[in-house]
Amino acid sequence: MNAVQDDRDAGLGEDARALLRGVAEFARGELGPLAAAGCGEQPWAGDLIRQACRRGYAGIEVPAGEGGLGLPYRMRARVAETLAAADFAFAFAFINQHNVALRIAEHGSAAARARYLPGLLAGELIGGTAMSEPRAGSDFAAIATRARRGEGGGWILDGEKAWVANAAGGEVALVFAQTDPARGPAGIACFIVDLRAPQCERVAGAPLEGLGAAGIAGIRLTGYRAEDSDVLYAPGQGFSMALAGVNKARTHIAAMAAGLLDGALRLAVRHASTRQAFGRPIIEQQGLRWSLADVSMRLQILRMLADRAAGLIDAGSDEAVAAAAMAKKYAGEECLDAVSACVQVLGAGGLLPAQGMARRLLAAKALCFADGTTEMMNERIAAGLAARFATAPQATAPGATADGERGMPYRALKLTRGEDGATQARLERIAEDELPDGEVLVDVAYSSLNYKDALAITGKSPVVRSFPMVPGIDFAGTVRHSADPRFKPGDAVLLNGWGLGETRWGGLAQAARVPADWLLRLPADMDARRAMAIGTAGYTAMLCVMALERHNATPEGGPVLVTGANGGVGTVAIALLAGKGYTVTASTGRPQEADYLRGLGASGILDRATLSGPGKPLQKEAWAAAVDCVGSHTLANVLAGMRYGAPVAACGLAQGMDLPATVAPFILRGVALIGVDSVYAPMGLRAEAWRRLAEELPQGMLEANTRELGLSEIAAAAVPLLEGRIRGRIVVDVNR
Ligand code: NDP
Repeated sequence: MNAVQDDRDAGLGEDARALLRGVAEFARGELGPLAAAGCGEQPWAGDLIRQACRRGYAGIEVPAGEGGLGLPYRMRARVAETLAAADFAFAFAFINQHNVALRIAEHGSAAARARYLPGLLAGELIGGTAMSEPRAGSDFAAIATRARRGEGGGWILDGEKAWVANAAGGEVALVFAQTDPARGPAGIACFIVDLRAPQCERVAGAPLEGLGAAGIAGIRLTGYRAEDSDVLYAPGQGFSMALAGVNKARTHIAAMAAGLLDGALRLAVRHASTRQAFGRPIIEQQGLRWSLADVSMRLQILRMLADRAAGLIDAGSDEAVAAAAMAKKYAGEECLDAVSACVQVLGAGGLLPAQGMARRLLAAKALCFADGTTEMMNERIAAGLAARFATAPQATAPGATADGERGMPYRALKLTRGEDGATQARLERIAEDELPDGEVLVDVAYSSLNYKDALAITGKSPVVRSFPMVPGIDFAGTVRHSADPRFKPGDAVLLNGWGLGETRWGGLAQAARVPADWLLRLPADMDARRAMAIGTAGYTAMLCVMALERHNATPEGGPVLVTGANGGVGTVAIALLAGKGYTVTASTGRPQEADYLRGLGASGILDRATLSGPGKPLQKEAWAAAVDCVGSHTLANVLAGMRYGAPVAACGLAQGMDLPATVAPFILRGVALIGVDSVYAPMGLRAEAWRRLAEELPQGMLEANTRELGLSEIAAAAVPLLEGRIRGRIVVDVNR
């Protein structure tokens, strides 16, 4: 029996179990000497980190397409726990290494990924994240390390960072720096720094007692030049991305605390079972066995809290904030006392270096403040409580301030354009008289995050026609005031398209003023959240289905193809079509989501690579109908593979705006290409689409497929959405 072969493994696949077995063997075999070193004698574990990387452990959560294993976060937390059972400091250092690889894989430029990622995964490069400074820890917004624009591009970095894991000997650091102190948190960016450069100096100091393996040190940067391709998070994203990672960091600490305690408990039980006193093993002494029973229970609670937080993180739930804080707080409060109880069982022998108990005691203290103090955890848990239970509906109504006054400014995500032409997204307050003209003022309850919103927020495409702009191409809420007799205060309404978030301020705000002609009533049985879980993507999927039906598609006619299957439009299109009895094939670049797509109703999965390159003008007549979200070569190949007279509803351009096709499918097979536009679709078609969505879309499908974010979390979600790393739908509670 080892640290990972426990009842939790039953729910894992064989690959995952094999991974954990391998990690446990590595921990037992290779980490032994490290774990037996005295408190002040442990060296930085660089060589062992490199070994662990060579076994593939630095890429557990890194997407498979980037050279990693593409496993969920909870597997990484389990690995951290397993490593910490042998040595907490090593686990801490190794998780830092993994973090650096993952952040670069997810957010690095193509040049940065090519330069750093293979080395980080293979252990040729070791990294850590540099957030804290000698005078800024928990108060992260106060960091003083500066990044200034360099002449002819790039950035020049100056400042000092403290408590950076692996900085004692590693080669890479992710350095958070302030680009514009006047902008506060919105000025913080993050840069990939090569620590081997002469402008980087390590501020080593003495190794921390008990944490030597983590190689914690400082870094001083003097005129370090980072290229534009070394920008990991642009100004405006650094702060939110740092905070976005904090739930994982806290859950790691809790998982590692569980590993640490597991190791201590095993030693104590083994000793107590063999050591005799008064003629019997000391474990038979009631006081001692009860103490160990208590430790064992704390260990179970700690694991449950850490597992719950990890599961919520994987699910993208907002509850993850409080769950991670609870796990971390429990670890900080209980672990030290529980390890101490184990040392008590071992007596003086427990303090021999080979037992590793003194290091465990020091580590148990260190985890009380690493990645947030216990006091800060209390704040996070309390904030979650307040958001969940305390506020009465009228106090959270849009436009209400903390003291409940009406008419005060609304929170909104506002896009501006900087002098360099870059789009900046910031959460701001806007006054009612700033809202555009229109007959109806709506208290927005929910909006959603769509592909087009992500393009607008990141500025990756000229979606926004005038600045400043409030993005958000759809919203649902309640009429506050109407100068049009068709609507009255209290009516539940929704709106999507009509240039919202492009030419006109949109739904990512607590209020919107719009022309009455554009508003629809929410269908009966559909609340605002569900409407936005469906959102423009789901509504477009229904427009596509209706377009196919107008061209005589029927379930009996033959198989239907949906491209861009894992996206917002694709997932709803699959569910709608399968629900009506069609045989649906899902084309996707994410084969790992095949089970999910089958769960939606797809009966076949097609690798999108088979459609994404240039193909023959006419191919095997495979499909009786198709919904295409992708455009470009994919649409050309779809057209070439349609049966005689079959319709294709084309709505998207995820691969490209072009259509490198021939007329052959049209003039030789009578294929019908139907354009689907959601933005200016006539009101009759809209009302029909929403009515049918309310009736035909399975409720459960949306719940499993939807995650909810607050306004402040939107900017950070835009890039992963554009990179196709988000599955399904994101609804936005604008009052959070
Ligand atoms: P998502 O970003 O949610 O999904 C797009 C999907 O397309 C991805 O999940 C991915 O699916 C696939 N994809 C991404 N990049 C590529 C690529 N390079 N080559 C092939 N496939 C790719 O977007 P939505 O579902 O919300 O929207 C889909 C498209 O429809 C977008 O282009 C959007 O702009 C457009 N749209 C148009 C509307 C209209 O009025 N006409 C309204 C709403 C959306 P997988 O991982 O499964 O391969």
